[in-house]
Amino acid sequence: MRLPKIELYTKILIGLILGIIFGIAANQFGWTHFFTVYIKPFGTAFIRLISMVVVPLVFASLLVGTASLNDIRKLGRIGGKTIFFYLVTTAVAIMIGLILANTFKPGEGLTKETQEQLLQNYSDEAQSKIDSALKKPSLTQTLLDIIPQNPMYSLSNGKMLQIIFFALLLGIALTMIPADRAAPVIKFFEGINDAMIQIVNLIMELAPYGVFALIAAIIGEFGLGILGPLAKYSIVVLVGLILHIILTYNILLKIFTKVRSRDFFRGIRPAQLIAFSSSSSSATLPVTMECVEENLGVSKEISSFVLPLGATINMDGTALYQGVAAVFIAQVFGMDLNITQQLTIVLTATLASIGAAGVPGVGMITLTMVLKTIGVPLEGIALILGVDRILDMCRTVVNISGDSTCATVIASSEGQISIPERE
Ligand code: ASP
Repeated sequence: MRLPKIELYTKILIGLILGIIFGIAANQFGWTHFFTVYIKPFGTAFIRLISMVVVPLVFASLLVGTASLNDIRKLGRIGGKTIFFYLVTTAVAIMIGLILANTFKPGEGLTKETQEQLLQNYSDEAQSKIDSALKKPSLTQTLLDIIPQNPMYSLSNGKMLQIIFFALLLGIALTMIPADRAAPVIKFFEGINDAMIQIVNLIMELAPYGVFALIAAIIGEFGLGILGPLAKYSIVVLVGLILHIILTYNILLKIFTKVRSRDFFRGIRPAQLIAFSSSSSSATLPVTMECVEENLGVSKEISSFVLPLGATINMDGTALYQGVAAVFIAQVFGMDLNITQQLTIVLTATLASIGAAGVPGVGMITLTMVLKTIGVPLEGIALILGVDRILDMCRTVVNISGDSTCATVIASSEGQISIPERE
């Protein structure tokens, strides 16, 4: 079967649209409680089901992928290209955000009353985000934390970078021991890998209902009216995200691959919808892997290396939003950010996106680190908390689109892509 997920996409889209309609109605007519209590659990169940697959899938696929590379130099080359790609696209994303925020000055559109009201309404929530951000370990500690002390602990606690590290090492070690010893281990994990993908296929049948429940509950709770006073800021973030997808990813696909952008975006649409409704690139990972392999023809070897890494270290959408948010908050507080401060944003937001896990709302926490480095008042995040949930959904779509673009580019450069035939 070719491009098997496209039909499912339509169903998920219908779930999404109905979710928005029902969510707005719930918000208008006061049914929010009903939605939160009775409908949201279906969405949560769906997210838990796909999250269940993430750790075994990442571990098994990365291990099998590395072991089958059979060549440490090749691994180094692909690894180097991947990390370079991720860093450059993230920096470009932040620059787009900064250029837009400096041009359209969204912070100057906020009235004094709205500003005070937002600061007051969200101060408690802002404080708790600031507290958790300030607890962040140092850079050395963050790097040391990549090495697991006990891989079983890392696996059972979902420590993604540690899992990646151990899987890569184990995969390499398997290529260095006699083949008759390595083969049963690799076969075993191949079986686990295939079974996990089969589980994802089964769970995806529930996706339209899960997406409906998630979206209806979120819109029911927050309403679209929340965008009101922060409309200009939200629009700048959204325009930035769209530009990054249209310009950066399109150009990269054009230059480095033979994949037509239309086919690319069509191929990853199911993953984009799941990212939008779950706000988590980690939870979306199994779907992203499937779309990239099945619909775009990227080899397992590349996708199983590039995508798990991307879900953890590559967050273009998040970084772009941090660029806009930092300038927005500074503008509201009447501060002019000079060029050094803006370059510092590029650097810190790029680094922050590496350390952050792909889970909902994490971008807001790492934003605190960016603000701290450039000396913008941290309480400022209270200003944008109200719209964060909705923007989080959108930036997560960009995050997984960036990972998929990288997988496609790297696979093309390695001659490991077989573009599927169209029906
Ligand atoms: N929710 C985003 C992700 O999982 C991270 C963030 O921007 O908060 O990719």
